[in-house]
Amino acid sequence: MTFQSPKGTFDWLPPRSERALRVREAMAEPARRAGYGYIETPTFEDTALFARGVGESTDIVSKEMYTFQDKGGRSITLRPEGTAPVVRAVLQHGLHNGRLPVKLWYSGNNFRYERAQRGRYRHFSQVGIEALGAEDPVLDAEVISLGVQGYAALGLGGITLLLNTLGCKECRPAYRAALQGFLRGLDLDEATRQRIEINPLRVLDDSRPEVQARLTGVPLVTDHLCQACKAYHEDVRSLLTASGVAYTDDPRLVRGLDYYTRTTFEFVHGGLGSQSAVGGGGRYDGLSEMIGGPPLPSVGWAIGVDRTVLAMEAEGLFGEDPATGTPVQVYGVPLGEEARRRMFLLLAEIRAAGFVADMAFGGKGLKGAMKGADRSGASVALILGERDLAAQAVQMKDLTTAEQTEVPLAQVVEALKGKIQ
Ligand code: AMP
Repeated sequence: MTFQSPKGTFDWLPPRSERALRVREAMAEPARRAGYGYIETPTFEDTALFARGVGESTDIVSKEMYTFQDKGGRSITLRPEGTAPVVRAVLQHGLHNGRLPVKLWYSGNNFRYERAQRGRYRHFSQVGIEALGAEDPVLDAEVISLGVQGYAALGLGGITLLLNTLGCKECRPAYRAALQGFLRGLDLDEATRQRIEINPLRVLDDSRPEVQARLTGVPLVTDHLCQACKAYHEDVRSLLTASGVAYTDDPRLVRGLDYYTRTTFEFVHGGLGSQSAVGGGGRYDGLSEMIGGPPLPSVGWAIGVDRTVLAMEAEGLFGEDPATGTPVQVYGVPLGEEARRRMFLLLAEIRAAGFVADMAFGGKGLKGAMKGADRSGASVALILGERDLAAQAVQMKDLTTAEQTEVPLAQVVEALKGKIQ
């Protein structure tokens, strides 16, 4: 019997896996340059952290968590998102008692029991940044621009930034009530009617056309903001404009996690069908208090690595050929036992000099080993037979021209330097 990866998961295999690495590196780089430090939290946490932090009424907590009891009887959940764990870690280690904002970035796997489809998996990875402990529109603008810069570095042209604000604890309750009043008057199915009572903002996010059709004239949060939220949002918008970041105001934008306040945004891409969000984030001023900490106004985002790769593929950014990662440059072809030992040492020397080198393993004959050399994509093969060993030399074959020269073993690295730029 052979095993398959579990439903809703897939394997990143070379050479395509290089694309995921590239996305992680490109998205993290602008944040590192803005003073964000790397944080790694455990893959699992106390279930209560997510129940309280993300919110009992969200789809994530109510339907999608991988929750189990460990052997010590604790309720454990595989992390469905990265923000609540980061806030937990900041509070636990008192990072918020130092210089604020605390700036952190992370890269890791998440788990959600979702209906699996292209772009939506049960196991997926995100890169995220969080800036904790400052309430300043400049910080929101910084966070958003760092995402924009990451996507730009990847060459992605088809990304739209959707921007909204969700108000604060002063103005949100009145908006929520107005929204509920409107929604209760609509002809909606039972599940949606329940949602109106527990999480009415999420109804705005319902992707079903029949629901969207009924939302004409729905009260918008932007018409219910308090003065402070209005001014804050205007500042964020004008800072983005001043820095050349294009955005689309989307007063219906809400996100699937309860902790967002004020600035909320999503990065969407047109080439992905229904799973168009490649990243998203916002301000979460109340999250720290929700999980037992002091007030810690914060802002951040998470981008989906898997979907960002799909978006890049949709734009043809990797070209026709699969990404090659680190292509092999030099390939060793040892003939005989002693030659294998010597080739092993020679490759170490070649690699230390900065070349990417591989060799034929398993005692292949000349023909099989040369086939391996061709398949590796190397431009140079080093053939080491018994006679060469005796002469302390190697046959250096240029695989593009088929030209072959004898090079003393001690001069192989020098000769490669002349041949491979
Ligand atoms: P969220 O944590 O839901 O705000 O998601 C942030 C980003 O993570 C989204 O924009 C997606 O790119 C990605 N993402 C969320 N859920 C999934 C999933 N089930 N499969 C793949 N990517 C996801």
